Amino acid sequence: MNIVVLVKQVPDSGLERNLRQDDKTVDRDAGNLVIGELDEYAIEEALKLKEAHGGEVTVLTVGPEKATETIRKALSMGPDKAVHVSDPAIHGSDTVATSAIIAAALGKLEYDLVIAGAESTDGQTGALPAMLSERLGIAQLTGARKLTVDGDKLTTIERQTDDGYEVIEATTPAIVSVWDTINEPRYPSFKGIMQAKKKPVETYSLSDLGVSADQVGLDSAWSEVLEFSGRPPKGAGVKVPDEGDGGSKLVEFLATQKIV
Ligand SMILES: Cc1cc2nc3c(=O)[nH]c(=O)nc-3n(C[C@H](O)[C@H](O)[C@H](O)COP(=O)(O)OP(=O)(O)OC[C@H]3O[C@@H](n4cnc5c(N)ncnc54)[C@H](O)[C@@H]3O)c2cc1C
Repeated sequence: MNIVVLVKQVPDSGLERNLRQDDKTVDRDAGNLVIGELDEYAIEEALKLKEAHGGEVTVLTVGPEKATETIRKALSMGPDKAVHVSDPAIHGSDTVATSAIIAAALGKLEYDLVIAGAESTDGQTGALPAMLSERLGIAQLTGARKLTVDGDKLTTIERQTDDGYEVIEATTPAIVSVWDTINEPRYPSFKGIMQAKKKPVETYSLSDLGVSADQVGLDSAWSEVLEFSGRPPKGAGVKVPDEGDGGSKLVEFLATQKIV
């Protein structure tokens, strides 16, 4: 079974994240750049399928040159190889354009399954898997908390819902998006980190993929960030002196906050 895992390089959501003042895109120079949180679960799920059914796992990333460090981190978990689409014209692309680029890159690969995170931790549109499904004419199985394959023709997921789950199945090739309830990602071993340095990473530009630069990037984005403001600084919070009635005062406060 050939599996492609979509891995996005994103600013660490545990640190301060900023948008650039000049073009209001994410400031990727400010902080620590990491593998998109849910993409680690996507990688883990692909590796488990490979261990169970054989085949190959390929990481696919659209991102600037510095995304190479994130690709190496992804490879250190165990995938066999990677494809990196990097081109200055991609900067500021919206989800529509990113899906066109990823679809073109997938056109150069053999795959039975594409596995992605249900949403990225920066753009969070959660729309890319659906757009890919439309562009590639393949089924999408979204929001998986469990994934099984029967041979290499049938894929079944348990889609996580607010009330429990739904069982969805489709024939491959298909795209699956996962939540963080699907597995526990492995930590890269020292051996894995060393091996990742030698694993093949194929780099494509837009022209390699036959995608024209005026189809992507900030100028062709269908949506535009007009303005943004930082989160207001956290207030000091309410101090409740406890003169033996702390409990009831706390309940009163929680009631005013509609927490209870
Ligand atoms: C703050 C912010 C707001 C944005 N708002 C919008 C908006 O409203 N509309 C819009 O069209 N675009 C928007 N974008 C741009 C959009 O985030 C990018 O185009 C992005 O590459 C694709 O969208 P996403 O991350 O939201 O995808 P999602 O659908 O949330 O991502 C789901 C999964 O797709 C895969 N994936 C996503 N991007 C890549 C990539 N570059 N390489 C490899 N795999 C990938 C990952 O597995 C990811 O977990 C925004 C970006 C930011 C930072």
